[in-house]
Amino acid sequence: MTASRVLVLNSGSSSVKYQLLDMADRSRLAMGLVERIGEETSRLVHEPLAGPGAEAGRRERLGPIADHEAALKAVAAELAADGTGLDSPELAAVGHRVVHGGTRFTQPTVIDDEVLAEIRSLIPLAPLHNPANVTGIEVARSLRADLPQVAVFDTAFHSTMPEHVARYAIDAATADKYAIRRYGFHGTSHAYVSRATAALLGKPVEDVNVIVLHLGNGASASAVRGGVCVETSMGLTPLEGLVMGTRSGDLDPAVVFHLARVGGLSVDEIDSLLNKKSGLLGLCGDNDMREVQRRADGGDPAARLALAAYVHRLKKYIGAYTAVLGRVDAVVFTAGVGENAAAVREAAVAGLEELGLALDLEANAVRSGEPRLVSPEYARVAVAVVPTDEELEIATQAYALVTQ
Ligand code: ADP
Repeated sequence: MTASRVLVLNSGSSSVKYQLLDMADRSRLAMGLVERIGEETSRLVHEPLAGPGAEAGRRERLGPIADHEAALKAVAAELAADGTGLDSPELAAVGHRVVHGGTRFTQPTVIDDEVLAEIRSLIPLAPLHNPANVTGIEVARSLRADLPQVAVFDTAFHSTMPEHVARYAIDAATADKYAIRRYGFHGTSHAYVSRATAALLGKPVEDVNVIVLHLGNGASASAVRGGVCVETSMGLTPLEGLVMGTRSGDLDPAVVFHLARVGGLSVDEIDSLLNKKSGLLGLCGDNDMREVQRRADGGDPAARLALAAYVHRLKKYIGAYTAVLGRVDAVVFTAGVGENAAAVREAAVAGLEELGLALDLEANAVRSGEPRLVSPEYARVAVAVVPTDEELEIATQAYALVTQ
């Protein structure tokens, strides 16, 4: 029997999301999440979808789960109850989402002690994310030492950005000393979606230039030339770029000095303000696009302003990346907002006819989980909606690495 299953783990600061996939047919056997780890009200939701456990149905467990180790052990127990536990001989690998790979990790990487130490050393670059990723790896290794563990990095797809794009225009010695450069994030999504868009257009990925707009809670844009990332909107951290649910995106760095000098805020307070209390939330008090749209439709001025700022930033990036790429074949929307918010897509593309963009309003209004074109045939630049699938991409990369 060939081992063809991959368990994908996405460990966040207080949550673990997971999926078990069978790469023989790219099907999903189970998915679930543990949330509010470390609180009294932890919750585990496990959903077997196919294979031996499917009969058992969706299960929910409430009650305190102290830490990531306990969370992953609980996940392992749920999988074992379905007959798809970590001891299963059909399991080929565990694929770990790791947020920051620095400049060292530009490819998926089998994890050994040295790699784990290196991921740990990158914690200062991603203090909110890499610690949980490291814990996830440690626990998974302790549960099944002989199983290949593969790290798939959010930054890797963007490592092809040319040096003059990745560099900030600051003192070079200081930048080098502190590893300050633009890394980019959401890379597995940008990789998956740019490839899927080429397939949708019926062309080899090498022949297609796309602008990918990943619009979820976090949001980022990328310019991808022939399958290779040449520019992305997130930088040293996931704070730069588009207006997001709770993050400001681009701003004058002097805002930080001003808040410290005039406002008397500490570095941590400014960090929290820009990462957690800004974006849509900062502008109108809501970070969920559904709620912002509902309020804006009802004429709420703050929600309308937030939506307008969000869309304006998108337009700026579409324009900028058109200039970066020179020729654009498609602008593609993905993630929670990009896949579902037809009005945001319409507003972002409106008025960009000179750039070759146009929208088929009827096609754009259709709700669907499938990749699709939402532009008229005459449009020089296609507009597409392509659902992202970061778990499938992580599993694909991990499986390719352990079976090559
Ligand atoms: P994450 O970045 O956490 O993976 P998602 O890609 O799932 O997030 O996106 C979540 C966001 O998508 C929500 O906060 C919400 O704003 C938005 N969203 C989801 N469904 C809709 C919808 N039908 N209309 C507008 N926005 C939506």
